[in-house]
Amino acid sequence: QQTDRKLGVALAGLGKYSSRQLGPALKETKWCQLMGVVTGSKEKGEQWSKEYGFPVKNIYSYDTMAQLADNKDIDIVYVVTPNGLHAQHAIAAAKAGKHVICEKPMANTVAECDAIIAACKAAKVKLSIGYRLHFDPYHKELMRLAKEKDFGAFTTMTGDRGFIMQTKVWRADKKLAGGGPLMDLGIYIIHGACMTANGVAPVAVTAQEHPKTKPEMFTDVEEGINWTMEFPGGATCTAQTSYQHSADKFRAEGPKGFIEFKEHAFTYRGMVVETSRGPLNFTPPNQQALQMDDFANCILTNRNTIIPGELGRRDLVIIEGIYKAAATGKRVEI
Ligand code: NDP
Repeated sequence: QQTDRKLGVALAGLGKYSSRQLGPALKETKWCQLMGVVTGSKEKGEQWSKEYGFPVKNIYSYDTMAQLADNKDIDIVYVVTPNGLHAQHAIAAAKAGKHVICEKPMANTVAECDAIIAACKAAKVKLSIGYRLHFDPYHKELMRLAKEKDFGAFTTMTGDRGFIMQTKVWRADKKLAGGGPLMDLGIYIIHGACMTANGVAPVAVTAQEHPKTKPEMFTDVEEGINWTMEFPGGATCTAQTSYQHSADKFRAEGPKGFIEFKEHAFTYRGMVVETSRGPLNFTPPNQQALQMDDFANCILTNRNTIIPGELGRRDLVIIEGIYKAAATGKRVEI
């Protein structure tokens, strides 16, 4: 089914990712238009309504999300709040009959992922997770190499992702973040490694938390963590993530060659990617615009998204396994 209008999107949570990436990307989409917001700040909502030209009646607070049910301007709610609130906001959107995109990590726990998936099924709305790299040409090439095995099946993967947190924010608060850098940054390596393993999840993990150099900042989450994922067939991914060093790298090697994301491996632009055949040079697209347009197109043509809730859930299963391995010092089967 096609419609003669763009689908209306409401961003829930007007923080950095919404302001710097998703809002601007919505100006470039073909099938979506920003038609509303859900925010704790009425003032921000009014600024957004002016900038994006949607009516002030389309500004909601987290407490009034049920009223979205009466608003035909809005088809999709994009949940961009702290991780620990994703379940509450995604479920409220689904109950109001809206399709849902939920940012990564899908939620704090597997149980919350299950609740989101169940709410979307019950409401017969579509659900996708904000894994934008599925629309990046370098990561698409990684997936193609994994599938077509130009370098043989990849056997050895390594990854490192971190930034230096200067002051404590919600990302270091267990209730709002679910954990530390593993939830926020390590998840990219986990997702990327599963892509590199052709969409297959690891069978087991081992992990060690880094000693805390800033225990006052990282009171109830890890400051950093090392982990290894063992994939079926014997491939491994050894990785680390931290809020006290900066890195953004990923490498996959097979018997006949390698692909190495040397810089900005999991970000929006500036990727530097080498392969054993030479460097890759793609023009970086607007990942977020492509991601939102693809989801809108899924709704308009009633096809399944390539990034369903189950993928977000899979990554939380792995993350819970990694935390368990770090806490027990034992190899944990997934
Ligand atoms: P910010 O802290 O910049 O923004 C979060 C926003 O959520 C706030 O501005 C606020 O918006 C709203 N919010 C509601 N309740 C709370 C609360 N209790 N504490 C703090 N904020 C609250 O975070 P980001 O925008 O960087 O991240 C948001 C989500 O997006 C996270 O899940 C993150 O993992 C994900 N993300 C994904 C990226 C990607 O590349 N896919 C990149 C960056 C983030 P308001 O004032 O409008 O209520």
